[in-house]
Amino acid sequence: MTFWTLDETHDPEARCWVEGADGHAEFPVQNLPLGLFSDCIGGPRAGVAIGDFVFDLAAALQAGLLPDLAPLADVAHEQLNELLAAGPEMRRAWRRALFALLTDAAAEARCAHFLVPMARAEMHVPCQIGDYTDFYAGIHHAMNIGRLFRPDAPLLPNYKHVPIGYHGRASSVRVSGAEVHRPSGQLAGPDGPRFAPCERLDYELELGIWVGAGNALGEPVSIADAHEHIAGYCLLNDWSARDIQAWEYQPLGPFLAKNFLTTVSPWIITPEALAPFRVAQCVRPEGDPAPLPYLLDGDDQAHGALALELQLFLSTSAMREAGMPEHRLSAGDARHLYWTPAQMLAHHASGGCNLQPGDLLGTGTISGPARGEEGSLMEISLGGKQPIALPGGETRTFLLSGDRVRMQARAVAPGRASVGFGDCVGTVA
Ligand code: CA
Repeated sequence: MTFWTLDETHDPEARCWVEGADGHAEFPVQNLPLGLFSDCIGGPRAGVAIGDFVFDLAAALQAGLLPDLAPLADVAHEQLNELLAAGPEMRRAWRRALFALLTDAAAEARCAHFLVPMARAEMHVPCQIGDYTDFYAGIHHAMNIGRLFRPDAPLLPNYKHVPIGYHGRASSVRVSGAEVHRPSGQLAGPDGPRFAPCERLDYELELGIWVGAGNALGEPVSIADAHEHIAGYCLLNDWSARDIQAWEYQPLGPFLAKNFLTTVSPWIITPEALAPFRVAQCVRPEGDPAPLPYLLDGDDQAHGALALELQLFLSTSAMREAGMPEHRLSAGDARHLYWTPAQMLAHHASGGCNLQPGDLLGTGTISGPARGEEGSLMEISLGGKQPIALPGGETRTFLLSGDRVRMQARAVAPGRASVGFGDCVGTVA
């Protein structure tokens, strides 16, 4: 098995007995993402999204419904770190077992009571996140931001050689729906800095990568093995205070401008669910350096990138009060990442840093080369110089109170059941 192998669980003709699951835009039976949920019956436990329901995986395991997966029954509660640590073989086993159950019409009678309507489930951050790291692998984002400060040389000389990243803050990662509190911080001004509420609040559209099996301190992960350490993917919003960032970031990089909140979508979309949407890493333009050997693997270059349609929507409180639909600010694709997820993970561990199950890696803001594909307001508004006109007559350069940001990711390919990530939403208080 490889991270791009297709099997019966990818059959687009497969039929599921759960009402509304067939043809579901995000969670058909070919997806089966893992999440941590609670409801009026019980506390946080493992569930799997199917249609508009959560399948109570923890309860099904305890009831002995999936006998081959009995070892998982003890680790499907409170947080999912140990479930992720169980590794790819166990993950593929529960995917196939659950797929078999949900496509077997004869199983409906004994399984239907394990379904919880999503509207009655509260989702949680799926893991106890030990460490969160944010990369900067969206090259068009790096170019767009760099151009604002250095029009002649937007990319710094290291960019195409080394996956740039910084160690973020794990304690302030929250699940979709968490309220966004505008941070106060030091803002530069002509008379020196002042401490005041951020005036340039922004979002960053990113993918999150959940680490599965870890590595021991001092033992790097080879690029060939890196995919086996990835347990899945989510959407990630790296909320950013641009004015705080501009003053504080030199020489050590982002600090308070980024650590007040990071939002993730609740479902862990597994590598297996995304296998049909694997694509070759974009060919580097003529003149770009080849990745150093420790970041170069034939299978990763041929299959290691993800074709994912990414969209970002904004609604203001005035728009919602007027009954207006949210407004799409951008549409892009995860193919625009300059480094693959495996390259980011292998680089992270290359000096011997130990990654642990449930660690979270952000890809960096994903923008495309064209207008309309930007992953942040900083880019759309050209650093705040060009206001965005919204339907209803309002304008924005950065986020105001009441603004709601929703990110969406879909994997779509001809002849395949499409797979969605579920929303990543935040409203500015
Ligand atoms: Ca970021």
